[in-house]
Amino acid sequence: MKTSIFRIVPLSTEIAEAARRAAEAGASDHAVVTADSAGGYPCRHCLRWAQPGERMVLFPFAAIAPDRPYSESGPIFVHAEQCERYAITHEFPSEFRKNRVIRAYNSQHEIIAAEVANGEGPEPVIERFLQKPETAFVHVRSASHGCYTMEVERL
Ligand SMILES: [Zn+2]
Repeated sequence: MKTSIFRIVPLSTEIAEAARRAAEAGASDHAVVTADSAGGYPCRHCLRWAQPGERMVLFPFAAIAPDRPYSESGPIFVHAEQCERYAITHEFPSEFRKNRVIRAYNSQHEIIAAEVANGEGPEPVIERFLQKPETAFVHVRSASHGCYTMEVERL
């Protein structure tokens, strides 16, 4: 098997914990929702889809920090209960192989390339983007909803 050249960067445990605390405290921009389907509530911390009945915190996350032209904040889910941060960082999470768009950013946090990962899967697109010297990092998002899923770095 080919050695991967990338590292998956799931949402940090600190941010997931802060979101759980904010939801607990009743912050107006943090909602607790119960998953009612198996494919609609992706947790950005463990990088798994919630199963129906699992409680999720929905909150806005600034995938690209403020004060930049490409600044962006959007809704993401994390499990409301503690979950284990995705740890197989040399493997693209198997549950998110479909319906993803891959974006490459430069060191100024500007989008320099974007592609929907279709038949060939996400890895070849990620590797192609990371082979460009100007790529600083890559984001994976939902192709249909646009929501941030994970970051990917060069190994
Ligand atoms: Zn989770």
